[in-house]
Amino acid sequence: MRCPFCGADDTKVIDSRLSAEADSIRRRRTCTGCNERFTTYETVELTLPRLIKRDESRALFDESKLRASFLRALEKRPVNTDAVDSAVNGIIHRLRATGEREVASRLIGDWVMDALRELDEVAYVRFASVYRSFQDVNAFREEIERMENTSESVKKD
Ligand SMILES: [Zn+2]
Repeated sequence: MRCPFCGADDTKVIDSRLSAEADSIRRRRTCTGCNERFTTYETVELTLPRLIKRDESRALFDESKLRASFLRALEKRPVNTDAVDSAVNGIIHRLRATGEREVASRLIGDWVMDALRELDEVAYVRFASVYRSFQDVNAFREEIERMENTSESVKKD
């Protein structure tokens, strides 16, 4: 942590304590160059990155929209709500773990596809056919072929 007084890189923590709400750590530091003291606060970054849409506009991540995408794809499919919740939470976790301030919304679409592929193949194809058709019809066809090949090789085993 650079000293705000003299700019030296070498500072020493002399005291650390958790805030009353336990959501931040307050550190008292001293500069080994000029001996000035200053305080830093360490907090967990809880805001999720914003999404960069196809047209370059930015939007806030919306958990209810994400859940709705899953439920639409999984309509009348034998997948329980806990599994959907866990898939949604998994995506939020991945999103937070990027540590980015902005990510392409396409990334979320890819993660939804990953999750649906695990949950239910019919739902996966439903979602992929809508989602991928905007991007690349050939990629989708390849994906279906790949899936067919995979299930064939599974049968052989
Ligand atoms: Zn200093």
